[in-house]
Amino acid sequence: MATGRYAPSPSADLHVGNLRTAIAAWLFAHASGSALRLRIDDLDPGTRRSVHEPRQLADLDAMGVTFDGPRLRQSDRLAAYEHALGDLERAGLVYPCFCSRREVREATVAAHDHLPEGAYPGTCRDLSRGERSSRARNRPAALRVRADAAAIEFVDAVHGPTLGTVDDFVVRRNDGVASYNLATVLDDAHQGIEQVVRGDDLLAGTARQIWLGRQLGLPPVAHAHVPLVVGRDGRRLAKRDGAVTLGQLAEAGVDPRRVRHLLVASLGLEPGADRPLDVLAGEFDPAELPRAPLVWPPAEIQKNASDSE
Ligand code: GLU
Repeated sequence: MATGRYAPSPSADLHVGNLRTAIAAWLFAHASGSALRLRIDDLDPGTRRSVHEPRQLADLDAMGVTFDGPRLRQSDRLAAYEHALGDLERAGLVYPCFCSRREVREATVAAHDHLPEGAYPGTCRDLSRGERSSRARNRPAALRVRADAAAIEFVDAVHGPTLGTVDDFVVRRNDGVASYNLATVLDDAHQGIEQVVRGDDLLAGTARQIWLGRQLGLPPVAHAHVPLVVGRDGRRLAKRDGAVTLGQLAEAGVDPRRVRHLLVASLGLEPGADRPLDVLAGEFDPAELPRAPLVWPPAEIQKNASDSE
């Protein structure tokens, strides 16, 4: 039994890659006789009560993806995030960081830290009080954790044993908003999530979330990072790939049922004529999940999908 969740960000309509991940999350949860919860990732003020949210829910529904229990909205959780930030602060686990994105990009990570490329190099970790107050005059601070390049090992249900090194990542952005990593870890615990199923573009950040969950004393969560849907050029789906949302595909003459059929087949299942997900869940075997990304549009709908470009 592993309660799962799907957590869309309502900043745009869902594309077929998002819908495929949602179907996979539903199957993982229900194959073990468990539930799938819904969380709305509307931390960014621009995404709150957005026009995309009802459309996302309608598209998920058209794929057969249903949710159990009350939906959680991140914009309702700001006090819980602040509370956890206070705990981290009292434990001496965070420090203010004044670096801009560009400064982080241009700084080099010391080789002895074994941190991956793009990791925070620790520039603000040991600033004196005086340096902090003088830098605070020019720029509001973000808060970063003091992770000491912790090594985290975990077993992903798709990728197997995985090792990650945790950099000093942001837990509160410099606009005062909780970071995605902090919010997601707290919300997963709040919703009783036991297994997180999501796209494998998020695998690299998972060690951070596991580390943070441990610092906050939260129950452990299992992970399954499923392959993405990519365009014909192998890159993640984008406008250049033509019709990628249900709305765009419908305009190009591709029925949502056809899309569902293609996505279900791409997860290693026999979609038949509209076989419902609860029947398919009985046949779903994570070990059989194709490991390669799905290329979109597949040959059978290529003409319709690219005509709409
Ligand atoms: N809202 C996030 C996204 O859509 C959720 C990521 C996650 O599942 O942790 O990328």
